[in-house]
Amino acid sequence: SSFESSGLRPHLLENIKKSGYTKPTPIQKYAIPIIASGRDLMGCAQTGSGKTAAFLLPMINKLLASQEPPVTESGSCQPRVVIVSPTRELAIQIFEQAKKFAYNSIIKTVVAYGGVSVSYQRNHVLSGCHILVATPGRLNDFVKRGHISFASVQFFVLDEADRMLDMGFLPTVEQMLGDSTMIATGERQTLMFSATFPEEIQHLAGKFLHNYVFVAV
Ligand code: AMP
Repeated sequence: SSFESSGLRPHLLENIKKSGYTKPTPIQKYAIPIIASGRDLMGCAQTGSGKTAAFLLPMINKLLASQEPPVTESGSCQPRVVIVSPTRELAIQIFEQAKKFAYNSIIKTVVAYGGVSVSYQRNHVLSGCHILVATPGRLNDFVKRGHISFASVQFFVLDEADRMLDMGFLPTVEQMLGDSTMIATGERQTLMFSATFPEEIQHLAGKFLHNYVFVAV
């Protein structure tokens, strides 16, 4: 199989090529069509498997189809895609990959994480974005302050869910997932990735994913 046969738009295929990717990894081969078909997904995959592109590519493909500018309403950024990452390092990696795949398109990506000035990142977020990559604490803070709204969320991604569990982020994440479920208008797709699948993560998947497909590589 190839990226060309996966139904991704020509502009995206061009950016994939520019990133130096020639062939999908197994998680990409399985997850891209599932996500593109609109299903929720629980993916068991390690770092290094190519899981980041596995979720970014079908989401960016969908955003490219609509060609709508970022939504900001009454001082609040309304991302279409929210990606929650346990660490700043991972958040930055996801952000960098998203920028490569969205290169030379209308899609705007923003990253927000703790440990740095709130005002700088707030201004960044409020300038509007389609894709927001964030760590749980900073995301929760911005939602509480009203800088971010889940009203337009089409995709909610939880990356490295088992590490979030280890780091004690699960209560915060559960609350935000619950809020976004209630607030989002229209259909929302939820994607979870985890290297392992302990009971707490199974519970989270059962609670927030609807009729999901399980993929393990
Ligand atoms: P990840 O597991 O998403 O953290 O990706 C691990 C590394 O593999 C990253 O540096 C990616 O840029 C790279 N990568 C992901 N998918 C591919 C691919 N299909 N071909 C070549 N490199 C890839």
